[in-house]
Amino acid sequence: LQEYDRNYVWHPFTQMKEWERDAPVVIVRGEGSYLIDSDGNRYLDGVAAIWTNVHGHCKKEINEAIKTQVDLIEHSTLLGLTNDKAAILAKRLVDIAPPGLCKVFYSDNGSTAVEIGVKMAFQYWQHQGRPRKTKFISFKNAYHGDTIGAVSVGGIDLFHGVFRPLLFPTIQAPAPYCYRCEFGESDSSRCGRRCLQELERLMTAHADEVAGLVIEPLVQGAGGMIVQPDGFVRAVRELCDRHGILMIADEVAVGFGRTGAMFACQREGVTPDIMALSKGITAGYLPLAATMATQEVYNAFLGEYREMKTFFHGHTFTGNPIACAAALASLALFESEGLLESLPPKIGYIADRLQVMIEHPSVGNVRQCGMVAGIELVRNKETKEPFPWEERVGVRVCREALRHGIFLRPLGNIIVVFPPLSSSLEELKFLMDGIEASIEAVIL
Ligand code: PMP
Repeated sequence: LQEYDRNYVWHPFTQMKEWERDAPVVIVRGEGSYLIDSDGNRYLDGVAAIWTNVHGHCKKEINEAIKTQVDLIEHSTLLGLTNDKAAILAKRLVDIAPPGLCKVFYSDNGSTAVEIGVKMAFQYWQHQGRPRKTKFISFKNAYHGDTIGAVSVGGIDLFHGVFRPLLFPTIQAPAPYCYRCEFGESDSSRCGRRCLQELERLMTAHADEVAGLVIEPLVQGAGGMIVQPDGFVRAVRELCDRHGILMIADEVAVGFGRTGAMFACQREGVTPDIMALSKGITAGYLPLAATMATQEVYNAFLGEYREMKTFFHGHTFTGNPIACAAALASLALFESEGLLESLPPKIGYIADRLQVMIEHPSVGNVRQCGMVAGIELVRNKETKEPFPWEERVGVRVCREALRHGIFLRPLGNIIVVFPPLSSSLEELKFLMDGIEASIEAVIL
């Protein structure tokens, strides 16, 4: 299997060179919070199947829902038809979303969910007779996916820089990274305020040409699990309102309970104009995404096809009934298992462990928002000097964690904590013990 993989699979991001030493583990099965490889070894899934898995692997109720749906109808189309599961899921999403989001546009991955939001916002202003509003405000260090539109509104040079010539330019605003505040503030609320001042300056200068702003609310994920100060998302919403800019919230990573609320925006009492969802929507079972919009946004698209008022976007697998059935089963489990209500002690436990970890001489910063956390490793705690990229400290800690029976993926020198929401306290203890031991083993 490893030979086939080495010879034929082109893996995302991963550098094959590293694997000349360590071929990837071959996962053949999952059970609760654990992944099981072809030799029967078990690994706690510390990244919840790349930030998707909510209820653990191979959850009986979701498996059953999928099996039942396959015997009914596997796929048709939402072009000219609908299907029962897509219709019911849309209603369910509207019921649980921030109030005012009332239309659901389906696609099949996070990048397209964001890109659809960007296209909607662009076309919205065209239909309002504001043809100059064609630009977008994005944040430094943001990640919204890997399609060209999603990359355009991204802000991580390492991932996005090489594609610059292909991208549409955006107006980039500073994002609060309070540990390394670019304004030199050491207090997180002051760091947030400085970012907001700069955002307001940009909006004032460009409001006539800006269609929308794209934000990962509460946590910038792939940028390093960077948590925004309280009130930041609310303040961004207010600025968007004041300057006539549509707010597009990318909840692809933080949606579906990750921050402790069903949706991150709800923690700040915010309704975005457009909200992108994917990853956790099917609890990690099948590819599905949804871009939700307000009535106000939707109304701009009513009209005759030939008036060019329609939204020119459609995917083959839009509203796939098997994926929608999985999503419905997942949402039913949120209720029947009281999943959100079960989170506070787990969140508290992670917080307690992080408070101990911060004492380690190479742990520069720990940050947490609900059931997601980042542990930033530094060479010099006093100066915050990072470990040099070539030392691959994050990768080495994660490789060590595998020996402790834990699968992790780092973001540079940041260790990511992103377990299934259903993980038990014992499993979280195993996870945090393993991370602690791995850091100890790698950084002497
Ligand atoms: N937005 C955010 C915030 C994400 O974290 C990701 C994926 N990590 C995406 C969008 C892209 O999703 P996908 O990989 O499904 O295209």
